[in-house]
Amino acid sequence: MANESVAVQANQSKVLIAGGGPVGMLCALLLGRRGLPVRVFDVNPCIQEDPRAATTHPATLEVLDKAGLIDDMARVGLIAPIFQFWDRPSGEMIAEFDHAVLKDDTAFPYVNQCEQFKTAGLILERLVTMPNVEVLFSHEVTDVSQTADDITVTVRGPNGESRHTGSYLIGADGGRSTVRKSCGIAFDGFTWPERFIVLTTTFDFQAQRGYCPRSYFADPDEWCNCFKVSANGPPGLWRTVFPTNPDLSDAELMSDVAVQARLQKFFPAPEPYEIVHRNLYVTHQRVAASFRAGRALLAGDAAHVNNPIGGMGLNGGIQDADNLCDKLAAVLCDGASERLLDLYDLQRRTVAVEFVQEQTIANKRRLEAHDPQTRAQNLAELRAIAADPARARQFLLRTSMILSQRRAAAITLDEVPAARRA
Ligand SMILES: Cc1cc2nc3c(=O)[nH]c(=O)nc-3n(C[C@H](O)[C@H](O)[C@H](O)COP(=O)(O)OP(=O)(O)OC[C@H]3O[C@@H](n4cnc5c(N)ncnc54)[C@H](O)[C@@H]3O)c2cc1C
Repeated sequence: MANESVAVQANQSKVLIAGGGPVGMLCALLLGRRGLPVRVFDVNPCIQEDPRAATTHPATLEVLDKAGLIDDMARVGLIAPIFQFWDRPSGEMIAEFDHAVLKDDTAFPYVNQCEQFKTAGLILERLVTMPNVEVLFSHEVTDVSQTADDITVTVRGPNGESRHTGSYLIGADGGRSTVRKSCGIAFDGFTWPERFIVLTTTFDFQAQRGYCPRSYFADPDEWCNCFKVSANGPPGLWRTVFPTNPDLSDAELMSDVAVQARLQKFFPAPEPYEIVHRNLYVTHQRVAASFRAGRALLAGDAAHVNNPIGGMGLNGGIQDADNLCDKLAAVLCDGASERLLDLYDLQRRTVAVEFVQEQTIANKRRLEAHDPQTRAQNLAELRAIAADPARARQFLLRTSMILSQRRAAAITLDEVPAARRA
């Protein structure tokens, strides 16, 4: 009898997660640690090692510290307290910012350049030891349906199609989210016409050029982000990100000749560059109209996407996971009201729009500005901010996402529109 009641309770509280990227994995860890049964589905056979997020900001490090990941991330990542802005045409460094000015605001006054597959891998190492968490790779969520009492996903796996029912579903299945589409949630915003090319090289820009591990280059012709990741240990790798001409094909952009020419134009070097990765990304600025549809909740890229300048997409997703899982655990373990889930939607959607969209669009506009007067003003402003410690602190509170976390935390249940309250 006692066993039956445990089994019933387990079914009622099981959380399904679509997507085993870093956001889905973190949700599984946070809920699994509360003793909740969790099942994660990921369409890929394993964690993908593509060169996307690395920069993990102070506000996110605070979340990952709570999750018990901070020491391992420091071991496999690269601690970078400083970032720089350069004016590419003149070769002049315009401004340097040191996160040390945030020493009274955070325990982590630096970023950790930790590739997202490493963060996901560290989480997976913990999940496989948890008897209440299952991670099913090679399982694609294809459909979602729900009733007042539960939610069901249809899944295509190696043994055919199956259906799985839980109390809630987290859609952490990336920008093309099947969960978001199945729930009919709009993904408003726009797509940039140009794609971004990421070229990873062994060339050491710090030793050869004096660029720090996070360097942004403003250029009306072709801006660039250049940053270092630890890869498999010293000496690490450098990733460069550039905009591309929308009229050119993949082959024209990705050929050896084209990528060498692109790098040599920016950073002339005596030898051809050794290229470790080359990838093209379509880039969007979009936020889901709601992060909740009944028992389905969106987090990470499924809920919001943005250009990578400033490194905010995954950071926002990790902060979603933390916010959501606290509330979902309160509902499922402590009997709290489901209204908390609408508060999640309001808190996280507000900062996705007010901070992440606004900041990343402004970052891109600043780097690509064409008008000479606008460029001069932008660069003068950056110089002035960097020279004034109080302004530099305000600037870094925003770029390090501490302000957005404070803004989200200040939004209360009273602000949730009555129509949305459960
Ligand atoms: C070039 C580049 C650089 C970036 N740099 C940064 C950075 O420095 N800092 C930062 O914060 N962000 C950065 N980002 C953004 C970051 O990569 C994303 O925000 C991040 O990957 C989002 O994580 P996620 O877990 O939400 O989604 P994803 O990483 O996309 O994971 C989604 C997962 O869902 C799975 N999936 C998809 N559909 C299904 C389905 N139907 N069923 C089951 N599984 C499914 C996929 O296999 C995948 O594993 C960058 C992006 C790019 C393109």
